[in-house]
Amino acid sequence: MEQPNSQCRILQMTPDVILLIADNLPDHANVLLSQTCRDLRYILNKHTFPALAVRERMRFLVHLNRQDPNVWVCSTCKKTHRITDAELREDLRASSCPNYKVSQLPRSLFSVNYVQVQLALKYTRMGMSSSEISTHLERLMRRQNGFHMIRNNKFIWSSRPRIVDGRFFVKYRWTYILHNISSASSEMPKLILCHHQRLNRPAEGIVWGEEKKQLLRAMQGAFLNDETGVEYCRSCPFCQTDFAVRVYPAGMVVDAWKDFGPEDAPGNSTWVSHFSTKAQRSPSDFGKVRRLFEEV
Ligand SMILES: [Zn+2]
Ligand SMILES: [Zn+2]
Repeated sequence: MEQPNSQCRILQMTPDVILLIADNLPDHANVLLSQTCRDLRYILNKHTFPALAVRERMRFLVHLNRQDPNVWVCSTCKKTHRITDAELREDLRASSCPNYKVSQLPRSLFSVNYVQVQLALKYTRMGMSSSEISTHLERLMRRQNGFHMIRNNKFIWSSRPRIVDGRFFVKYRWTYILHNISSASSEMPKLILCHHQRLNRPAEGIVWGEEKKQLLRAMQGAFLNDETGVEYCRSCPFCQTDFAVRVYPAGMVVDAWKDFGPEDAPGNSTWVSHFSTKAQRSPSDFGKVRRLFEEV
């Protein structure tokens, strides 16, 4: 009787050739491959889950569960959890994770956490085949906005997520409607574009190096230009964030585009860049995040 796997192309190769292919795959992919049948498990026997480094274990879990819409991979516990309403509301205080302090962006007006990125990318790849998934996706991808007043000045913010080519992007906008533009610097709230580019009120002082003054330089250019509405574009050298500043007679608009990376474990370089202290981008890469977000 013919063996069930006898027509499988990869099993028609010799073990030496399969091992050569395995040498070119990431570790987590070899463990996944080893679990597809008894023959491959025998050939790839040194590739086991316990032997994986932590980051590769996380990638293994993400890929193992890529067709299951009901679980997410937790970077804190290093295992999967069931999805509850909390993850979809992005209110992780009621999360299915007992250690809910999952990776979040540092203090900002609206942060993105890796659960949102992971689930939105998974649901988008899986398509809108079920109404439940489509509802989950709508919740994860909803736009958010709000405002607050500081003295007579109005401060409005909004965020718009978008998935392009399997990557999770968000466009943010901060609009300042200023009662008196000449006193702008003393009246504006803190502006935090990313972990690296921020503008504190002058009283708190700014002591960072030039690489961390990209936001400041864009704002100086926009405020010093007599012509209003001119866009001053810059990029953060540390993370995947591009931004633009415009000044008008009644205020200022700051846009930022962020790339939070592909469907992968939270150790991937794009996600990590948002917390990194090392400059990772070259000038040739500047503006790319914005271009990708704006792709039709
Ligand atoms: Zn957890
Ligand atoms: Zn940055």
